[in-house]
Amino acid sequence: MPHDTARGSTPIVHPSCRSCAAPLQGPFCHVCGIKAPHLPLTLAGMWQDFSERVLHIEKSLKRTVGHLCWQPQAVFKAFLQGQRLSYTHPLPFLVAIATLSVLLSHFYGDAYFDVYRAKLLQQVRGSLSPARAALYAQLNLWLSLAMPYWMLVFTLPTAGLMRALFPKRGFTVAEAWAVGLYGIAMAMLFDLAVSALGQWARMPMLRLQIITDAMLLLITIAYYLAWLGFKPWTLLRVVAACLFGFALMNQLQEMAIYGIAAWLPGIQ
Ligand SMILES: [Zn+2]
Repeated sequence: MPHDTARGSTPIVHPSCRSCAAPLQGPFCHVCGIKAPHLPLTLAGMWQDFSERVLHIEKSLKRTVGHLCWQPQAVFKAFLQGQRLSYTHPLPFLVAIATLSVLLSHFYGDAYFDVYRAKLLQQVRGSLSPARAALYAQLNLWLSLAMPYWMLVFTLPTAGLMRALFPKRGFTVAEAWAVGLYGIAMAMLFDLAVSALGQWARMPMLRLQIITDAMLLLITIAYYLAWLGFKPWTLLRVVAACLFGFALMNQLQEMAIYGIAAWLPGIQ
């Protein structure tokens, strides 16, 4: 008797989500948000998946970079008001640019790092033994290679200071951090261009480093001003927050690395 159902009319099936088993009410699961995949897997289906995910990310990255150049207020406003479709979230945005910057830093060549290492060794020659000075230089070099990712943490104290210096604006630390992350990511992107130009012009490495460091600070200040408006009193507080936040993190970083190099046991 099981075949007794009316033939010809397809039975109404309520498909369930393959990921979380909730009954589906449309192409997207209302519980876990996953789009129902086309099964069985086909090449066309794989291409569609790829283009929806990856090409969407690429488009939104390009749009975010473009709009941060010409109308950063639009990006800040959309993101802070919860609109997540048009622009890349600041954290993945920074990670994407950091990855690009780390990849490109491999083209700098050994000369760059030799000059930097010599400068670092010079700094601690009087206070650390040769083996510890070498460790100090090596730790600094590693940190500078990972610097783009380190910027995630580096920008946080500045965001806290911004919150403290603008009590009446009513923004949260996370909101100030999001703007700071967009700013520092764009600054790193500009730094890539300036570094390439500097290398091409054979500019001394240490001077190039000072220029790119100054650009990080200035561009972050510029983005905070674009967010809060250009008024003298605002400018003063933004400059204070950024200068103090950056100096604080530089100091902490220097103290931590020097501390490790000076106290790590087992080194002469
Ligand atoms: Zn689901």
